[in-house]
Amino acid sequence: MELWYTEKHTDTVDFSIKVKKHIYSEESPFQTIDFFESEEFGTFFTLDGLMMVNEKDEFVYHDMITHVAMATNPNIKRVLVIGGGDGGTVRELTRYKHLEKIDMVEIDEMVVRACEKFLPLTSSKLTDPRVTLYFEDGLAFIHGKENVYDLILVDSTDPIGPGEGLFSEAFYNDCYAALSENGILINQHESPYYPNYAREMKRSHSKIKKIFPISKVYQFHMPTYPSGHWLFGFASKTFDPVKDFNPSAWEAFGLDTKYYNTDLHTGCFALPTFVKKMLEE
Ligand code: SAM
Repeated sequence: MELWYTEKHTDTVDFSIKVKKHIYSEESPFQTIDFFESEEFGTFFTLDGLMMVNEKDEFVYHDMITHVAMATNPNIKRVLVIGGGDGGTVRELTRYKHLEKIDMVEIDEMVVRACEKFLPLTSSKLTDPRVTLYFEDGLAFIHGKENVYDLILVDSTDPIGPGEGLFSEAFYNDCYAALSENGILINQHESPYYPNYAREMKRSHSKIKKIFPISKVYQFHMPTYPSGHWLFGFASKTFDPVKDFNPSAWEAFGLDTKYYNTDLHTGCFALPTFVKKMLEE
């Protein structure tokens, strides 16, 4: 008998991966967590049936959530990751030796513990001495904080369930206050392709651009997310990711990356016409 994992990308479009073994399934207080082994994507895990991370394309997401901001302002010292329970974003951050403080606030400790067991590829740097883990709601954690981080990375689930508030205007306002004077906010920005995701993309962008003087969107290719065309938001108090970008400053870090590079840094902000139009609406 064949076992397949299937995710509904729309009501009439399914995405399926043949599963070798279903290795873990638990209900946490927040969501259903499942881990699978597969031929094509290696180990992968889902939350409430939606693909989060797999061994084959995680490098795309984690490179792009981390290095674009780190290259725009090479003087970032204090970073907060909200969500990100698999540890992949923290892993990329720990490669910057000059970072002083990496806080991660994840609502669901069970996600972190399961990733430590089944996904060492992403979770292995959560023990770095600069990393502090907080198991609480990112919304409550950030509320009332002022001038404590140079960079906030929102590595969240979609805007349903516990991740919903991480797409709200109140949350973006709290992030603005928690950031230092040159602060940058990167957030999971959904996808422009299928209407149900595009709606969230537009809502998120319209809220952020009211709050931050610089508000851009950049794209990357994520094979296992709906349509494969995915976006992050880049919001900043001062730095423009293209005009203020100095490739040689980032190259001096000497990091070997599999997806991100300094040509792509500029290119990823060049959006297709249909996406530009949607963001202007
Ligand atoms: N890269 C993945 C993606 O976009 O599909 C998701 C990364 S990570 C697994 C997302 C994490 O955000 C989950 O572990 C979830 O528990 C966490 N999360 C959701 N809502 C949260 C909240 N309000 N505060 C903190 N963490 C939250």
